[in-house]
Amino acid sequence: MRHRFIPILTAGFLAFGLSSPALAAEKVNAVASFSILADMVKNVGGDRVEVTELVGPDGDAHTFDPTPADAKKLAQADVFVVNGLGFEGWMERLETSSGFKGATVVASKGVTPRKMEEEHDHHAGAEDDHDEHDHGGDGEEHAEGHHDHGDTDPHAWQNLANGEVYVANIRDGLIAADPDGKAVYEANAAKYITALKAEDEAVKAALAALPETRRRIITSHDAFGYFAAAYGLEILAPEGVSTESEPSAKDVAKIIRQIRKDKIPAVFMENITNPQMLEQIAKESGAKIGGTLYSDALSAKDGPAPTYLDMFKHNVGALTAALSS
Ligand SMILES: [Zn+2]
Repeated sequence: MRHRFIPILTAGFLAFGLSSPALAAEKVNAVASFSILADMVKNVGGDRVEVTELVGPDGDAHTFDPTPADAKKLAQADVFVVNGLGFEGWMERLETSSGFKGATVVASKGVTPRKMEEEHDHHAGAEDDHDEHDHGGDGEEHAEGHHDHGDTDPHAWQNLANGEVYVANIRDGLIAADPDGKAVYEANAAKYITALKAEDEAVKAALAALPETRRRIITSHDAFGYFAAAYGLEILAPEGVSTESEPSAKDVAKIIRQIRKDKIPAVFMENITNPQMLEQIAKESGAKIGGTLYSDALSAKDGPAPTYLDMFKHNVGALTAALSS
């Protein structure tokens, strides 16, 4: 009796299996490494793309540690959108372990990378040693905490002109994965780039209106170098371009002396870092706390910076409120 049912069941599963891709309308499955890229992919992909993010709202991609569930998400993806510039130190290991078969889109491809000046002397000895085995075993690199982003600043998205480059790369990556959607991706990207250009003008105008001597702030990690260069702000950060190393007491004391000497008006928290150190710096230096800046992650949907564009609007609002005389 039983064996009679088997062929019927098999035929049923087969029929279902054959028809399911067509039924699913074949949305492109895109995984973005962090929330800011996920928002960009949603804007360009529209209805044709299903977007999943690995590092979500208020998350820190510098210190992210992928789980087996993240590997599973990537294994099923057609496209993996990453920042590049050494931001996702965990990326290659995840691509390998997940067996990812799709295409990786490096959103920052083509931007001019900002090089860090060699001013973080607090690890001088250790870093000299580390440089010796730059391309050594990955075990050692890991033990050092992905220090090999070296002197390239990964936070290129903090300049909206770079955001336009990101969007163009995402558009081209989606077209390569889904050529039938070319016209849709081109139209969505063009519309979005127009909005980015308008916001870029607005940010420039808002910051240009601030008194020049007040365009100086402190943040916890050095995430706003591209922003500062594009929009005319001076930013000091005790932590360097990654959140992975804690600043030393000496770094903090140096910042406090500098705030007093240069009369830096405000310190800003970041949504991804612990506010404690900055609260201490503000207290000891007499600078005021200017609010929270969104640096490496968006806020939750109901927060003040749920999209890339909202992030700029929020940050500029916080900066102008704290820095206009
Ligand atoms: Zn960062």
